[in-house]
Amino acid sequence: LLETTDLEKTFGALVANDGISLTVDAGEVRGIIGPNGSGKSTFFNTVTGFYTADGGTVTFDGEDITGCSSHEIARKGLARTFQIVSPFENLTVRQNLLAVHSKGVRVSEDKRERADEILEFLDIAHLADDEASEMSGGQQKLLELARLLMLDPKCIMLDEPTAGVNPALQDRILDRLIAMNDRGTTFVIVEHDMDLIRAFADTVTVFDQGRIIAEGTFDEVTAESRVRDAYLGVESDL
Ligand code: ATP
Ligand code: MG
Repeated sequence: LLETTDLEKTFGALVANDGISLTVDAGEVRGIIGPNGSGKSTFFNTVTGFYTADGGTVTFDGEDITGCSSHEIARKGLARTFQIVSPFENLTVRQNLLAVHSKGVRVSEDKRERADEILEFLDIAHLADDEASEMSGGQQKLLELARLLMLDPKCIMLDEPTAGVNPALQDRILDRLIAMNDRGTTFVIVEHDMDLIRAFADTVTVFDQGRIIAEGTFDEVTAESRVRDAYLGVESDL
């Protein structure tokens, strides 16, 4: 469903993505792990059109999307969240969902129903009329996910969806992600929380210094010495 070939992104002298080739099948959950600064978020930004690639190609659903704008890519069904959430703080939760489509035009009854369905699905329907700014950080992560679902994406790329979220809410987020995957949504997920990666990802790709250094099941990659070395002294994810 999603394929990158030799994807490159540089910032001045820094090579943040140094030839990333990765294939994600439809229905798969792909975990991406790697130390801080290894290029995971850069990869998301380049794939989804927020950064322009300096080399390589991105194909989604059989179509070359290299160089497409982030809006075009989202419309084609490849949606993503950001490491730092940014809801429209002065809008209510429901308005946040409708703003994905409305931009000042009148909202159809269908959209409204769909929005309420999604809020129900994510268990935040009771917050629908609250301002987004009143939500906790974890609830805002759910809101961001809810906004994505309005686009009815085939593939969702999540950048640290449970970072800074309390354990109870983390479990709920994981439960909902599994439900979405059961209904056919493909996921690419960046996380430092290894329990989540172990529980959710079918295949794990390990980044280090802008490159892929390992790929396989969670147990396979975490057993590799070069993966353990990459994390050594950097952080204690593994
Ligand atoms: P983390 O786990 O901390 O989120 P990451 O793997 O997501 O890390 P990136 O954010 O992709 O890492 O950063 C990779 C490298 O690229 C880092 O050295 C970072 O400083 C650099 N970088 C990322 N975005 C930019 C930018 N817009 N301008 C300049 N340098 C950038
Ligand atoms: Mg990041």
